[in-house]
Amino acid sequence: MTDRKPHGTTPRSDNVDVVVVGAGFAGLYMLHRLRQLGFSTRVLEAADDVGGTWYWNRYPGARCDVPTTDYTYSFDPELEKAWTWSEKYATQPEILRYVRFVTERYDLRRDIDFGTRVAAAAWDSATERWQLRTTAGEHIRCRYYVMATGCLSQPKTMDIAEAERFRGEVYFTSRWPHEEVNFTGKRVAVIGTGSSGIQSIPLIARQAKQLVVFQRTPAFSVPAGNGPVRPERRAPLEADRDAYRKAAKWSRIGVPSTPTQILALYSPPEVHRERFEAAWQSGELVELANIFADQVVFPEANEIIAEQIRDKIRAVVKDPQTAELLCPRDYAFGTKRACLDTDYYTTFNQPHVRLIDVRKHPIRTITETGIDLGEEALAFDAIVFATGFDAMTGAIVAVDIAGREGVSLKQKWADGPLTYLGLMTTGFPNFFTITGPGSPSVMSNMMVSIEQHVDWIADCLAHLRTEGTTTIEPTATAEAGWMTHMNDCARITLFPAANSWYTGANVPGKPRVLLPYIGGVDVYRKACDDVVANDYLGFTLKGPQGTRCRDGVIRRVQPDVAMVLDLLATLNLPPLETLPVEQARALATQLSVGRPSGPAVGEIRDGTLPGAAGPLAYRLYRPASPGPHPVVVYFHGGGWVLGSHDSDDPLCRDLCKRADALIVSVNYRHAPEARFPAAADDGLAAVRWIAEHAAELGGRPGALAVAGWSAGGNVAAVTCQLARDAGGPRIAGQLLLTPVTDCDTSRPSYAENADGYLLTASLMTWFWDHYAAPAARTDPKASPLRARDLSKLPPAFVVTCEFDPLRDEGIAYAQALAAAGVPASHVTARGHTHTSLTMVDVVVSGAELRAEMASALRRFFK
Ligand SMILES: Cc1cc2nc3c(=O)[nH]c(=O)nc-3n(C[C@H](O)[C@H](O)[C@H](O)COP(=O)(O)OP(=O)(O)OC[C@H]3O[C@@H](n4cnc5c(N)ncnc54)[C@H](O)[C@@H]3O)c2cc1C
Repeated sequence: MTDRKPHGTTPRSDNVDVVVVGAGFAGLYMLHRLRQLGFSTRVLEAADDVGGTWYWNRYPGARCDVPTTDYTYSFDPELEKAWTWSEKYATQPEILRYVRFVTERYDLRRDIDFGTRVAAAAWDSATERWQLRTTAGEHIRCRYYVMATGCLSQPKTMDIAEAERFRGEVYFTSRWPHEEVNFTGKRVAVIGTGSSGIQSIPLIARQAKQLVVFQRTPAFSVPAGNGPVRPERRAPLEADRDAYRKAAKWSRIGVPSTPTQILALYSPPEVHRERFEAAWQSGELVELANIFADQVVFPEANEIIAEQIRDKIRAVVKDPQTAELLCPRDYAFGTKRACLDTDYYTTFNQPHVRLIDVRKHPIRTITETGIDLGEEALAFDAIVFATGFDAMTGAIVAVDIAGREGVSLKQKWADGPLTYLGLMTTGFPNFFTITGPGSPSVMSNMMVSIEQHVDWIADCLAHLRTEGTTTIEPTATAEAGWMTHMNDCARITLFPAANSWYTGANVPGKPRVLLPYIGGVDVYRKACDDVVANDYLGFTLKGPQGTRCRDGVIRRVQPDVAMVLDLLATLNLPPLETLPVEQARALATQLSVGRPSGPAVGEIRDGTLPGAAGPLAYRLYRPASPGPHPVVVYFHGGGWVLGSHDSDDPLCRDLCKRADALIVSVNYRHAPEARFPAAADDGLAAVRWIAEHAAELGGRPGALAVAGWSAGGNVAAVTCQLARDAGGPRIAGQLLLTPVTDCDTSRPSYAENADGYLLTASLMTWFWDHYAAPAARTDPKASPLRARDLSKLPPAFVVTCEFDPLRDEGIAYAQALAAAGVPASHVTARGHTHTSLTMVDVVVSGAELRAEMASALRRFFK
């Protein structure tokens, strides 16, 4: 072991600016930054040396699973020049050598107390300091308290009965002895087949006389293909280090890679095979996470990858029963940490290796001599527990932390951790967590996430000092907003469904919530930067000069909506309203090319029907179920100017399938060629004809509703009024999605959403200008909200979106209908924009609302 300054030889101050707990990668870099800034700092570390993860996890086969080109500090280009990794995935001894090399290079040891475990920490409001107590009884005060205690540093408590009875050798992968362990000639049990088990099993098998592996949940494991660094990584790094590191910082998981747009659900089998095989051969988790854009969104898409991995397992493992046992089935690929291995599956072809499924054969107890399964007792010389960690929160709540008014962190987090950005938590001023729950952490290359957090915290402390402020704490609003955003990110994926340590499901009694942020390293970094750029949005800063707080929520748009907006922003499209109409139409059509088509339906058929002034095209969507079906006359969006009977194809298919109704989408006449009231007149004409011909179309006569989106919502609402006034046809209900209901553009939603989110205030003005002369716009046939009488209209279901100029007029219409005695319900889609709910299979967060819309249609027909 490298020489260390023994604990206690240097007098330490018991009152410092900052205490950092942990001397792994995070604590060491934090110390380096704080020193550069001139903050007095002490680092407290329970272990006897630096390294954290790489100090404790010395089991055979321990390696990183992010390529070492990327799993390395990047803060100092000179450091990078001074160190060369020997292979694609370095071993634990090499990584530990690197940690020590960095420690010596920056002379970090002199501020670290080894063998020092923090037991408790309490905030003292009077002195605005944290009071820390170590297990040895030492008290240390500090202004800022930073926990760099690691996401995977707190081993899971043993939950196997009477494990301590065993008289043979006992090892924990997470607390492996420093001395060499030799299993030659021994009967060995390995309990657990997560990453540590998978890395160690092949090497233990090489020595052991007999090896029994106890598996509860099989992992998806991929051959690491270890060896020299891949040229795909080495070449760009050597060509331009800075560009490579920047690409990592702004990537999805902290390793440079271009996110694919290819959807498994919309690609043919040969693409499925090609993309999977390329990722498999790369032996990189980042490639395996990027096979398809929808792989952690739709179970069917995920299954395309999962089944190919199972095929690989079956091809390697000779005994079919063992192969099946090793095939994961009850969670989606990627939603539990995928593993990289060297010869894991072939190990099970060796005659002295046996696999036991503890779900079928639970471990009843551990005895003095081995493991008792009830029906069988197995004798062992050594047992290796590879049982994992109380991840992300374990090491934090293991310390008794009390914040303002003595509130305990453990209690505050009893139902799951609550944080702002995974960096801080309300009620605990000046308390920071590096890679804490609510940040990308274990979903990323940790080195990138650690450096980002350390830099953010260091910059924050420097800012506080410059400002003359002494405390910082997130507001309740900001924290709640971040947790909502966290849940929004989780909800649209398959992650929450998996029983994994990501969700706390591996620890009995631990609240089940998705702990890391899964929105992406790039998206997360931008959020953190935006918080700072917006004057530390969501934080209260206090100092002798007073209190400053710009309260608010940093991310309010649904994550998948934000992704679409970001993608569109990269296209640099001209605003539609700056184009001649024909060009605007061409651009709108072009944008819909290649979009997911939406679900399959029974039949799609085109036809024409008589409109108010000539034939109109329509498209009919028929459900696959036996008819006759109720009929929904649908009016497309596009500001009366753009779109056609097939432009809302995915939404029509979706509604058809979900509502089990026939959808007839009508191509009403468009402006400026046919201005007001052409669209409205066509709406009524179409509804009349469809009502009369319902049976011919395969519909149920008498069961007819209307639906429309945006300007189509306007046509639908107006049609209901016209049909009422004309004495028919009878309309069972109106589904209005973000409808135009009024020409007044002075409502707050116009001002709030004037410039963003595709439908801007100026685009809406352009639409109105094409559709109706100013004097005509107040006519209820253009502005249905202005109708004198709204009574006796069909029941309505109105959907408005939070970030839409039309939001308030939609709400006003729903309220006015209700006030007139019409059964009208209304939902506002939180975090959605004018267009986002129509983006079937792209904006997945819209699916719930589309399901509600379909339920409303079904209710109309009851
Ligand atoms: C086997 C294994 C392989 C991994 N491979 C990868 C990989 O390839 N890529 C990747 O990105 N990540 C990997 N990780 C995650 C890994 O934990 C991080 O990459 C990184 O090492 C974490 O550094 P850290 O400084 O944040 O935490 P740690 O390295 O965990 O250090 C935390 C330190 O805090 C100390 N500590 C905790 N509580 C206290 C207390 N109360 N008082 C005093 N000291 C305390 C601990 O003793 C520990 O030394 C791996 C993890 C494991 C277990």
